[in-house]
Amino acid sequence: MSLFNVTWGEVARAVPHIVGLEIGRYLVFAGLASLIVRVFWKAGLGQRKIQARTARAADLRREIATSLRSALVFATVGFCMFLASRVGWLTIYDDFAVRGPVYFTVTLILMIVAHDAWYYWTHRAMHHPRLFRAFHWTHHKSKTPTPWTSYAFDVPEALVMVAFVPLWVAVVPMHDLAIFTFMTWQLVRNVAGHTGVELSPVSGEPSRLFGWLNTTTHHDLHHQTPGSNFGLYFSWWDRLMGTEHPEYQARVAEIAERSRARRKRTPGGATIAAVLILAAVGASHVAGRAEAAGSNIAGRWATQGFGSIVEFRPCTRRPDAMCGSILWLWEPNDAAGRRRTDSRNPDRALRSRPLVGVEIVRGLRETAPGVWSEGSIYNPDDGRTYTGTVRVRGGKLELRGCALNLLCQTQTWRRPEAALAAVRAL
Ligand SMILES: [Zn+2]
Ligand SMILES: [Zn+2]
Repeated sequence: MSLFNVTWGEVARAVPHIVGLEIGRYLVFAGLASLIVRVFWKAGLGQRKIQARTARAADLRREIATSLRSALVFATVGFCMFLASRVGWLTIYDDFAVRGPVYFTVTLILMIVAHDAWYYWTHRAMHHPRLFRAFHWTHHKSKTPTPWTSYAFDVPEALVMVAFVPLWVAVVPMHDLAIFTFMTWQLVRNVAGHTGVELSPVSGEPSRLFGWLNTTTHHDLHHQTPGSNFGLYFSWWDRLMGTEHPEYQARVAEIAERSRARRKRTPGGATIAAVLILAAVGASHVAGRAEAAGSNIAGRWATQGFGSIVEFRPCTRRPDAMCGSILWLWEPNDAAGRRRTDSRNPDRALRSRPLVGVEIVRGLRETAPGVWSEGSIYNPDDGRTYTGTVRVRGGKLELRGCALNLLCQTQTWRRPEAALAAVRAL
């Protein structure tokens, strides 16, 4: 091996080291994530499960086999980088004193930011119909990701993924520990995006502080509906290019709501549900925080019987009007355990969309103080769209609407806090 300036002895030491590192890294982090999910399932992670479906044993076997193959591809490229550094084609240094800690940190951060762009654009390209089958098909066989999905790539995809590292190092000299840290970071984030349970500390609102970091739900949605959410670490490329899943924020909010609501609901679900519905209906004189909101209809409302929570906010396209989307459902799944969908929608194409996130109130405008009209309300229970008026009275929302001027409905919605306060009062 005099061509590469290495002895056979060095090769014999380097190969098992590189192969062991790549395979070991995958097994350790994917295994650790599986263990964490299992250990903390009852302590709350179970409520953060993103999909109703669970991956089958056959999925796991395929994912592990293809991931180990990818780890071997990565190791091969790693070995080539070792040889290339020996002849000076790549600069990989190992003496910290040479360029100092600032250089180390800055190049590491830049590498991560550049890799995010690399990932977004190569990932989008691999979704092109001409490339998908050869590059990205295996990864999308996993409809319900698990930590083991992280490296489940076709060989061409594995090559595209890892090609970034030598390309980057050809331009930017890197410390070997920085490359190690980068590889570990990409795997940890990759595993986190595939755990199937939301690991980020999510709340009901999109986080201002951490909104630029992708959550587990972000990538999980990509596996459910592959036309959106192509980004890996950061949300900015998807936002910039308009490829963020339209229901992404609503889904995250739903998980936050679900884990919060279940934490409060301890005894037998059905009994409490009955008490809560009775209380919510009877709680007409509850003075809650809602009263302070006056005639403002923005925020969350529990629908009649507490079947769901609808959030009102200014419409995206018409900020002068209010729109409302389903944020949370008392029964998120149907009798068969599947996620509830908009199954009664007159438009067949929409029947498979998840109910959570559906915009059911559209274009309401305040035509008189406390009176909102000119909009429409869609009732997923019967698939009809009603036009009518919404009044804010005594902290409650009175909805009266008619479909086709024949079928009329009146409903009273309350602030969730008010309905819950009534139960506590009981
Ligand atoms: Zn994936
Ligand atoms: Zn994809």
